[in-house]
Amino acid sequence: MGTGTAVLDIVGGILVAIAAVVALVAFAVVALTGTIDVGTVALAAGLSALGGAIVGGVVGRLTHADWEGALRGAFIGLTAGVNGAVGTGILGAPIGIGLAVITALALVPVIAQSDVYQAVLGWTSYVSPMSWPGHVAGLFMFLLNDVAGLVTAGRSEDLKLHGLRVDWKTGTIATLGGWVARLAPGRLPAYTIGGFSWFDYDDTRGRTSVEDGLLDHEAGHMLNNAAFGLVQVINALPDDHDSKYFEKLAESNAPSSRGYARSDQWGMGAARPD
Ligand SMILES: [Zn+2]
Repeated sequence: MGTGTAVLDIVGGILVAIAAVVALVAFAVVALTGTIDVGTVALAAGLSALGGAIVGGVVGRLTHADWEGALRGAFIGLTAGVNGAVGTGILGAPIGIGLAVITALALVPVIAQSDVYQAVLGWTSYVSPMSWPGHVAGLFMFLLNDVAGLVTAGRSEDLKLHGLRVDWKTGTIATLGGWVARLAPGRLPAYTIGGFSWFDYDDTRGRTSVEDGLLDHEAGHMLNNAAFGLVQVINALPDDHDSKYFEKLAESNAPSSRGYARSDQWGMGAARPD
């Protein structure tokens, strides 16, 4: 670990990783022991997704007055519906309904743009079913990266870990360095899977820290995973990075002074026409 990594961040990162593992094991046990009826939950999830998408689309159209708002609303409504149905099936009705309400509030701009709401949305996404695929994949890569870095203990420059930072607002765990940090297409300076982000470490490119504005952007992806869940896998389709739909949504969590194309989902709208 390099300088600039607070002990609190390391402890926080480890705690979240442990919590995620515990949640996954608990889910696997519940599913395998047959305490939930998978068919009923799947049917409920399908109907809730459909209902959520319709209601979300209408609300999105009303709050944004354009087709993009309607589409975004439909995505959020769909995610809220699945979280409610699957969350109820696995974790019980109070938690399932709570998760659905938290997700659905991302439809309301004044709430979606508040830091308090974003903290609730980000942290609860660790138990939101639609966000699990992202969190599981992210946790897997996080562990692979850290195991390689810890086992080699800095002897390999390629595997070396240079820092760990937690975005406390959203619950995003950011790692600086390691081999996973260099996997992004085009060798982006940073990228995110679920609640886990990786920052490339390369002093010849001036990449030596988890920079604030970029961390806000990556935390925006964490919020996307919370509100859109599986839907945001379309972000993996090849396209110019900055013009991708979910990039603009993620950028709305970062300061507009960065000057990148942005949505109005997690913060104020476009800094420039795009
Ligand atoms: Zn991004």
